[in-house]
Amino acid sequence: MPERVDLLVRGGIVVTVDPDDRILTADIAVTGGRITAIGADLDVEATRVLDAAGAAVIPGLCNAHMHETLERGVFEDLPFMEWLEDYALPKDRAYEPRHIRAAALLNQAELIAGGTTSFIDIFRHPVEAATVAERSGLRATFSPQVIDDPVGVGETLADNEAFVADWHGRAGGRIRAWFGPHSLYSCEPATFERMREQATALGVGIHTHVAESRAELEIVAGLTGGLTPLEWIDRLVGLGPDVLLAHCVELTPADIERLAASGAGVAHCATSNAKLGNGVAPVVELLAAGANLGLGTDSNMTNNNLDMFEEMRMAALVQKQRTADPTVVPSATALRLATMGAAGALGLAGEVGSIEVGKAADLAVVDLGRPHTHPLLRRGRGNVVEHLVWSCNAADVRHTVVAGEVLMEDRRLLTIDLAEALDLADAEELHLLTSAGVLDRRFPEES
Ligand SMILES: [Zn+2]
Repeated sequence: MPERVDLLVRGGIVVTVDPDDRILTADIAVTGGRITAIGADLDVEATRVLDAAGAAVIPGLCNAHMHETLERGVFEDLPFMEWLEDYALPKDRAYEPRHIRAAALLNQAELIAGGTTSFIDIFRHPVEAATVAERSGLRATFSPQVIDDPVGVGETLADNEAFVADWHGRAGGRIRAWFGPHSLYSCEPATFERMREQATALGVGIHTHVAESRAELEIVAGLTGGLTPLEWIDRLVGLGPDVLLAHCVELTPADIERLAASGAGVAHCATSNAKLGNGVAPVVELLAAGANLGLGTDSNMTNNNLDMFEEMRMAALVQKQRTADPTVVPSATALRLATMGAAGALGLAGEVGSIEVGKAADLAVVDLGRPHTHPLLRRGRGNVVEHLVWSCNAADVRHTVVAGEVLMEDRRLLTIDLAEALDLADAEELHLLTSAGVLDRRFPEES
């Protein structure tokens, strides 16, 4: 009698990203949300079968830094201070729960459609976003974006504490709630210290932006009598694997050593850094030092999409350009950064990030039947990893699975009504820009 399983992902080229980087043509059996077997022609009776013939099966992609916002393509090509003071801060202040619900539906639809299965969000009104994630089926961590100064543009420490108490561990642990101090220049030292006490007591993480720009370097040096942002955050919260730092562009060699030794997660956001003109993070050096490094897209305002394939490619490209060495960040490394690397940065390396028996069944099935994924060579290790990093994009994903639940099948979203999400995003962004008082300045009616 063949064994009964919940789900069989049949006949794909399985790119495991396991410790041996195995690639094999195989079926994957899933029961109770976990991978129970990987092998050719598994003799099982499956409740549900997903066809992976002509496709690569990869670990679900993990996005280690993003904000669920609506500001895609509305504040482009502006000088930084004008962008921040005239647009970004007024719209952040105007955000209401209704806007976040729309943003969460839009962002989570895009993640599922692009094969991303885990993400961390740092933004406003997290109850709305987490409520959407309960239904969307994604593996989600929310770190409410706490801002002390200016008042009213972010969440408060009290909001964050209440959210962690209420939401951490919901949906069988699929949803986590962390602390989310925005940055060293927008939160008081006492806020960081209180968050560290609470994070340790409750066993949750802390996610913040650190060493993103040269301006931040100067502000922090002025506030602290010459510390680097990395030294300052280490003093305030004590770096460890439960801390996740976005950006880390401006690091000294000593910072890199400190960061790697601490085990703290780093979310490298290559596209966002490029778009904001913030320089290039020392990824080659962080990798050499053994840092706990993954990739993030940052928000749809600074990217402008949540396509982790594009993020892999960008991360590899900018390092090759920065170092004038085309051998750095090879394809397998780029893929690892978007899977195991980002899972590690999120503190989820034991659970997701690779395709291994016993791990959660978080998978993306990527169609290889496209002009841009051929020639496809099957000799030796073949060239599937090269295609995944250098040619593929989010639209190539055929199926997306989280904890054994199918969230997209044959490109059809099963947990989010896409048409509703798109209409709601348009309507709510119009409402938000109007109430922020920036709509007429940015999009004047034609006379
Ligand atoms: Zn960010």
